[in-house]
Amino acid sequence: MKTSKYRVVPLPTEFADAARRGAQAGARDHAYVMVDSPTGYPCRHCLRWAQPGEQVILFPYASIPAGRPYAEMGPIFVHAQPCPRYESTEQYPADFRAGRVIRAYDREQNMIAGEIVNGRKPETVIEKLFENPETEFIQVRSADRGCYTFGIERA
Ligand SMILES: [Zn+2]
Repeated sequence: MKTSKYRVVPLPTEFADAARRGAQAGARDHAYVMVDSPTGYPCRHCLRWAQPGEQVILFPYASIPAGRPYAEMGPIFVHAQPCPRYESTEQYPADFRAGRVIRAYDREQNMIAGEIVNGRKPETVIEKLFENPETEFIQVRSADRGCYTFGIERA
């Protein structure tokens, strides 16, 4: 489904590349993980589920930077091998339509709303959250573990 009201923001390529370098250098907070489930390891760079047999890197990412009340650092995966950054930024990523919670933040990076997708179309939830003029940006996370999946900005 196309929309011109917002755009999906995948993890920047420089963060994915830095994670790959960190893992290669043996950084203690970067771990190689062999994927053993088709829907357990979302790559934040290509915004697809990594598939069994592929390797991912697990590392901490500051989805809300330090120094704010809602500052948050949490674990995310990227493919260990270089992958293309998600390009269809006008389209909600097909792999993550279920099992997500959608959070809205204001310009001070304070969380002002959170809604579980729960069978609804994620686009409907996103459009509703952006109806609030105070919503500056949105984050999509896993509903069960709370891990950051991707961001959404107003177009
Ligand atoms: Zn990937």
